[in-house]
Amino acid sequence: MSLLGAIEAGGTKFVCGIGQEDGTVVERISFPTTTPEETMAQVVDFFKGKDIAAIGAGSFGPIDPVKGSPTYGRITTTPKPYWSNFDMVGHLRSHFDLPIEFDTDVNGAALGEATWGAAQGLESCLYITVGTGIGAGAVVGGELIHGLSHPEMGHILVRRHPEDKFEGFCPYHGDCLEGLAAGPSLSKRWGIPGAELTPDHPAWAMEAYYLAQALMNYILILSPQKIVMGGGVMKQLQLFPLIHAELRKQLNGYVQVPAIMDDIENYIVPPQLGDNAGLCGALALAKKALAAG
Ligand code: ADP
Ligand code: ZN
Repeated sequence: MSLLGAIEAGGTKFVCGIGQEDGTVVERISFPTTTPEETMAQVVDFFKGKDIAAIGAGSFGPIDPVKGSPTYGRITTTPKPYWSNFDMVGHLRSHFDLPIEFDTDVNGAALGEATWGAAQGLESCLYITVGTGIGAGAVVGGELIHGLSHPEMGHILVRRHPEDKFEGFCPYHGDCLEGLAAGPSLSKRWGIPGAELTPDHPAWAMEAYYLAQALMNYILILSPQKIVMGGGVMKQLQLFPLIHAELRKQLNGYVQVPAIMDDIENYIVPPQLGDNAGLCGALALAKKALAAG
């Protein structure tokens, strides 16, 4: 069995790992995201001399994951200092003569959950992270979704909660889903960090109201067989039953499938790969790279 290299490229930290084709991570390292020169030097140092057969990278975005595009492999228009237009795949190729698969962190996580986690054996699933931002990736018909670029499901528009006075913080759209429901919206709206809000605080019903609307839209458009919800905010496990109830209310009996009508607790779930969801996602991308050769 070949060893694989995995890179979870986050906006605040990078996690690199060595794993096996069965999803087991055998070694991992993490360091802060600074400049591409400094951070990528640490990535290269970690993998140099290791007996790996392919590399998978799941990255913060926006990125260009479309093979054949002139800017394929780059982090594109990020406001993150120094990283705009950074050619991640080109940089890796200049150091490693290996198959490389490059995708969004959330597409990677969706593939990881479909390969080894909560959506194992299913043809389709959606992975959404609710953290510093909101992003989602999806597997449909066994394939990750790309198109012009990649989906940006965190920036969809949602109906405002009647009692919400917060204007939203998305620099592009103000009160899109990310602007109203990502981690920073909790502290900006309620004055204390999300992690310090008590489980019975009204913040969570409002949060569930927004997230359920997003899930309803994803279900209506993609019809995923499983929805996996990760990221810092979803550590608040009381959100799950609130989201289940709110989603049922909003769908109002329109999608009559047993997964939603009778078994929603097993339909919308936390990542089975837990805190390894991101790194295992990158590992799943590496496995894909290996298969593609
Ligand atoms: P990132 O999105 O940067 O990769 P995380 O998924 O950890 O990182 O998300 C960080 C965001 O989640 C922050 O806005 C933080 O306030 C929020 N957060 C982290 N832990 C919790 C928690 N236990 N409850 C609520 N919010 C949290
Ligand atoms: Zn937005």
